[in-house]
Amino acid sequence: MKKPAVLVIYTGGTIGMKAHPVTGELVPFRFEHVLEEVPELRKFGFQIDTLSFDPIIDSSNIIPDFWIRLALLIEEKYTLYDGFVILHGTDTMSYTASALSFMLKNPEKPVILTGSQLPIGMPRTDGKENFISAVEIAAQKRDDGHAMVPEVCIFFQEKLFRGNRTFKYNAEEFRAFRSPNYPPLAEAGIQIKYNTHAIKYPKKWGQKLEVCTRLGTDVAILKIFPGIEEKTGKALLNIPGLRAVILETYGRGNAPSLDWLLKSLTDAVAKDIIILNITQCPAGSVSMESYACGARLKKAGVLSGLDMTTEAALTKIMLLTGLHSDNKKVRELLTVSLSGEF
Ligand code: ASP
Repeated sequence: MKKPAVLVIYTGGTIGMKAHPVTGELVPFRFEHVLEEVPELRKFGFQIDTLSFDPIIDSSNIIPDFWIRLALLIEEKYTLYDGFVILHGTDTMSYTASALSFMLKNPEKPVILTGSQLPIGMPRTDGKENFISAVEIAAQKRDDGHAMVPEVCIFFQEKLFRGNRTFKYNAEEFRAFRSPNYPPLAEAGIQIKYNTHAIKYPKKWGQKLEVCTRLGTDVAILKIFPGIEEKTGKALLNIPGLRAVILETYGRGNAPSLDWLLKSLTDAVAKDIIILNITQCPAGSVSMESYACGARLKKAGVLSGLDMTTEAALTKIMLLTGLHSDNKKVRELLTVSLSGEF
C-alpha cells in the first residue's frame, strides 16, 4: 500500500521563531530547524515533504495576495498529496483559514492550519503536539479510502475546528482558538476521535478542485460602541468605492436607534453598499427580529450575518466581491452557506 503523503507548508509565526540575540524580540528562523525539532514525525512512516514561503512572515503581515499564493500552491500540489498542513502564525490564522475555505471549492483533501503559542525550540512548547497531530489528521483516511476531514481546518490544543468558525480567543494560553458556534470536528486524546456528523463531506466525490483567486478589498468594518459619533460612522460609510461594510453590533444584532446612524445606513444601502450585521458576541447568532433596535436595522436594509465570525464574513465578502462586480449577486450569495460558515 502506498504510504500517505503530506505536504507541510511553512509560512512563519511563533512556531518557527527564536529570540533575537541582541533585542530579544521573536524573529523567524529557517524551516529546516523547525523539522529538526520534531524528529517524532518520522515515526509515522508517511512521506512528509516541506515547502517554505520566502520570506517567512509574522502573520500580522498577511495580505490577500498571500492567500492567493497559498491557494495556488495547494492547487499545484493537489494531486500529489493526501493532505496539507500549513504552519502559520496564530494572530491571523482564522482569517487565512476562512479565506482558504472559500477560495478552495470542492476540497476533497484536508488542509490543516496550525501553529503555536511558544516557539517549537522551547522546552514547554505547544508547537510539537499541534504539528504532529495536524500531520496525522492530514493523512487520515476513511475505510472507503476518502479523506477523513476534507475541509480547511485549524488544529490547536487537542481540537480540530472548521477553520471558518474559529477566532483567536486567547493571546497567552495554549488554548488559543475557539469555535463557539460549531462543534469540534475531532478531538485528540489517546486516540483522535472524529466527529463525522459535523464534518462536511462532498455530496459526490471525484469533483475537480477549483481555486478562486480574485479577492475584493473594498470592504470595511464598523464596530458599534456607546458614544459612537456621527462623524465616525459617516466617514466610514462614505469611503469612495466602498462595496460592503460589516456592521459589528451588540447581542442579537442591535445598534443604537440614532437617527443619523439609521439614515446613514439607509443612504448607504440606497447607494448599493452591502451592510452585513455580525454580532460582537463570540457566541450566538444575529436575529434582527428580536428587538426594536435590531428591527430598525433590518428596515434600513441591513442583512443578517447569522452566526458567522467577523473573519468568515470579511473573507466571504472579499471572495464574492472579487468574483462578482454586481452587488446584487453578492447579496444573494451572502445568504447561502458556501463552506459551512453559518
Ligand atoms: N505574531 C505571531 C504571528 O501571528 C504570533 C503567533 O504566531 O502566535 O505570526
